[in-house]
Amino acid sequence: MKLIFEKSSPGSRGITIPKHDVPEIQPDTVFPKGFLRQTPAELPEVPEYEVVRHYTNLSSLNYHIDKGIYPLGSCTMKHNPKINETTAAFEGFTGLHPLVPEHLCQGALELMYNLEHALAEISGMDAVSLQPAAGAHGELAALMVMAAYFRKKGEDRKYILIPDSAHGTNPASAAIAGFVPIQIASGPSGTIDCTELEKKMNPSVAAIMITNPNTLGLFEQEIERVANIVHGQGGLLYMDGANLNALMGIVKPGEIGFDVMHFNLHKTFSTPHGGGGPGSGPIGVRSHLAPFLPRPRIEKTNEGFRFSESVPQSIGKAHSFYGNFLVCVRAYTYILMQGGNGLAEASKRAIINANYLLSKLKGMFEQTYPGQPLHEFVLSGTPFKNKGVKTLDIAKRMLDYGVYAPTIYFPQIVPEAIMIEPTETETQEELDRLVSVLSAIVREIETDPEIVVQAPHTTPVRRLDEAKAARDLDVCFKSL
Ligand SMILES: *Cc1c(COP(=O)(O)O)cnc(C)c1O
Repeated sequence: MKLIFEKSSPGSRGITIPKHDVPEIQPDTVFPKGFLRQTPAELPEVPEYEVVRHYTNLSSLNYHIDKGIYPLGSCTMKHNPKINETTAAFEGFTGLHPLVPEHLCQGALELMYNLEHALAEISGMDAVSLQPAAGAHGELAALMVMAAYFRKKGEDRKYILIPDSAHGTNPASAAIAGFVPIQIASGPSGTIDCTELEKKMNPSVAAIMITNPNTLGLFEQEIERVANIVHGQGGLLYMDGANLNALMGIVKPGEIGFDVMHFNLHKTFSTPHGGGGPGSGPIGVRSHLAPFLPRPRIEKTNEGFRFSESVPQSIGKAHSFYGNFLVCVRAYTYILMQGGNGLAEASKRAIINANYLLSKLKGMFEQTYPGQPLHEFVLSGTPFKNKGVKTLDIAKRMLDYGVYAPTIYFPQIVPEAIMIEPTETETQEELDRLVSVLSAIVREIETDPEIVVQAPHTTPVRRLDEAKAARDLDVCFKSL
């Protein structure tokens, strides 16, 4: 595809403006000379319809959730209802300056207050802060809250326990917050091994970070025992809430022993994600940690809603102003649209969809941890290695068939991992399409593995150097 600059032709105009009927002002009579351009800006000259066509075509080069299923495990790529965009575009919200006085933004404050309380209700936590901008940022804020809690108690706790199935952000956040992460090995069933935990738990451990259901999609059945072991030594339980889509309306983390957690509004609560944001990663805490939450807090008084800065033990600000407000508007819309049992229904459907897919796929791949999963599951592509085909090749070949690839090589405890999370928003027909694509690829591996190894064949670009593409972004048109 050509760049918009390459479509430019001198004199082409996007719009024509009627001739003005007021005297012309020379720019240099208004602006100091040094600030004026010597040469015209190098802008592409194209008619309006070319601009529209160009960006419409560009937008469909990439795969996205509005094109088809997006089964990225751990990411909860559910459909983002369009009504979320409608409410987030309300002028009363988009036109708000973050420094507008409280009495002029009561509606926005009420929305934040209500969302905090809705998340507290969903999670069984006592207080919520909407400030953190993403899951990893929520982890960091929560770890800082835990550090402040122990500082206040006069306890010196250095270590954070993290299961080997955890997301890489967990140990990274622990290290950035000044703790030392310690890995604990999963048991043979893929869940936390309590004997191993008992060995590693001691009074210098601040907390254990647990993803529940874990990244294999398995519910931590022994969570109460885990809580007893950790609380017994004065430690805290942190829940990585990225998989809350399996629990909403069914299990409240605050009621099964967790002291603190983060939410990924851009996962569970249907706000768009990918491409670097914006997201939102609120944190929820039980009452003993509430005094340390980021400030300002939002309060409801007889005179209305207001920000309170008098939170003397707060860790301080976690984000400029109050977090990514318009993401919160989308998540709040989603929660209200679900109504009474809607969130529980969404979680149950997510679980049914995952188990339906698993039942169709487990014959084709290897299931390293055969427990019954909740909303996502992990298979292994090791059976195809003897044909010279890696999981990466299968993922790339899926793109040729017009479906997005699942998460691969995560969690790291499964070799050649393929991690699928269909979410509740996909129909049985779309799930069947995914199954038929995977079975077609498995047949190809038997008959013509080379076509899989060389994939993708039909995408705008073939195989990218993914590490370089992410670290060395080059989005500038330089040949001008
Ligand atoms: C997505 C995810 C995170 C990190 O969340 P971000 O919003 O991407 O920062 C942490 N843990 C798990 C299990 C996740 O899936």
